Amino acid sequence: MYLSKIFAPRLREVPQDADTVSGQLMLRAGLLRKSASGIYTYLNLGLRVKQRIEEIVRQEMDGHGAQEILMPLLMPAEPWQATGRWELYGDEMFKLTDRKGRQFCLGPTHEELVTTVVGSERHSYKELPFNLYHITNKYRDEIRPRYGLIRSREFTMMDAYSFDRDETAVESSYALMFEAYTNIFSRVGLTFRPIQADSGAIGGSSSHEFTVQADNGECAYAACEHCGYAANLELSKARPARDPEKSIGALPEVEGVPTPGVHSISDVARFFGTDPGTILKSILYIADDKPWLLVLRGDDDINEAKLLKAVKAREGRMATDEEVLNILGVHPGSVGPQNVTVPIVVDEIVRNDIAYIAGAGADGFHVRNVFYGRDFVSDIVADIRTVRAGDLCPVCGHPLHTATGIEVGHTFKLGTKYAVPLHANYVDEDGSEKPYFMGCYGIGIGRTLAAIIEQHHDEKGIVWPMSVAPYQVAIIPLNRGDDAVWRAALDLHEGLQRSGVDVILDDRGESAGVKFNDADLMGFPIHVVIGNSFLKTGSFEVSLRVDKANKSLVPAQEAIAFILNLIKTVA
Ligand SMILES: [Zn+2]
Repeated sequence: MYLSKIFAPRLREVPQDADTVSGQLMLRAGLLRKSASGIYTYLNLGLRVKQRIEEIVRQEMDGHGAQEILMPLLMPAEPWQATGRWELYGDEMFKLTDRKGRQFCLGPTHEELVTTVVGSERHSYKELPFNLYHITNKYRDEIRPRYGLIRSREFTMMDAYSFDRDETAVESSYALMFEAYTNIFSRVGLTFRPIQADSGAIGGSSSHEFTVQADNGECAYAACEHCGYAANLELSKARPARDPEKSIGALPEVEGVPTPGVHSISDVARFFGTDPGTILKSILYIADDKPWLLVLRGDDDINEAKLLKAVKAREGRMATDEEVLNILGVHPGSVGPQNVTVPIVVDEIVRNDIAYIAGAGADGFHVRNVFYGRDFVSDIVADIRTVRAGDLCPVCGHPLHTATGIEVGHTFKLGTKYAVPLHANYVDEDGSEKPYFMGCYGIGIGRTLAAIIEQHHDEKGIVWPMSVAPYQVAIIPLNRGDDAVWRAALDLHEGLQRSGVDVILDDRGESAGVKFNDADLMGFPIHVVIGNSFLKTGSFEVSLRVDKANKSLVPAQEAIAFILNLIKTVA
């Protein structure tokens, strides 16, 4: 392919509206153009990468017993109403009405549809298990689409659904998909980590998020390098490395201390000359319009996902200063756990044998020697803190580290959650009808593409892994006007194409600098320069994008064999 013929408009400047490295590079290298907020057009180079990822996904899914189907994007409302998700999805679902008044949606996912398709046929237990997948677009009306392809409103996913006889049988379907995912993400060149995404699953396997470490990732997790434990921070459980010293003997009485102007936890710790772990943080929180007082250690942060689960609420937020004043009668910096009229949630690591310092519930005062159980009690005790780096692994006790990542895939056991309301049953050995046990498995194709760029780039541009590169080789003839150079470039281009290599020929009359910059920006893995070395010695300069300093001088007649070998051996 001639570079001048590809519609891949490049940008010299870093686009202002792209908020990630991958988003910027996709625009700069001409892979993508934005059509509306969270909606993109894949240009040729971007589409080629997307198709290569999809091809690897297909090979591994097929190789692990799944079969490809294609479900519609436009779906009737009824199955969604049967599972309750028509309402539950709320504004995130794109809903529409046809000319006869029947309601439809643009599919945000396909559990309902696939379960309906399978449930409408009569299958015997002998035909189980099976696993159906498709690769298609999904639609979610995100409030704030961002990070380019990472959080968009139209996105491509591979989603698979396994159908099994019972809970035990799902294990093997799940294990197969886990292996397929591991192969897929390895083959596209990602360093990734499957993290547990299910609260009851320490050491278990019922839900995993496949996460690629990235600084701007939306998924935060804690991981242990010692035993391999890794869990989403929303669910991760761990103990702090150190507990404050406990009180022994007769417990001292509560003592009020005037603390004018002392509000934040660090101010209080400095004022009392103590460690923040012995101070209690008391926070007024509104969950589904109901106020709660949250009490946790001063050096901990509230984990809202855990908290909402503990108080069985759908949404929540910190109370405003005004609400604190109205409900508790003090300013936020002086809120304490004693004598409050709202229900109290106490974090489970707050102990009853430690003399804590806390807000006094009166402006300008703190109290010390506050004992949980004696001076205040809880309505709910729960794990509501966010795990911190250095906390101890819940499996092996070694220190955890924390990181953020991009979730590129998930695997999840659904049980009979969809089969029961949608009446999807198989016929068991005794002739009775029983609901399928299902698993679902998703891979974000666009996210995977973005994650590959996040992990494979340098200051000059993208560095594609060979397996997903839009073109494997870029031929860069310098001295375009020289007949011998141009003829050698054409011969190599044709020879490589005949050998099945996807190759770009930079046929433009641009300067060497412009050509090198573009080849670097677009990230083709192998660069072949035809210039002075060729004119002097008849050799091409072959280098890898990932290691430009290391050039091989390859005689023209050996170039094709050399490049074919390079493609085979380089990841
Ligand atoms: Zn561990």
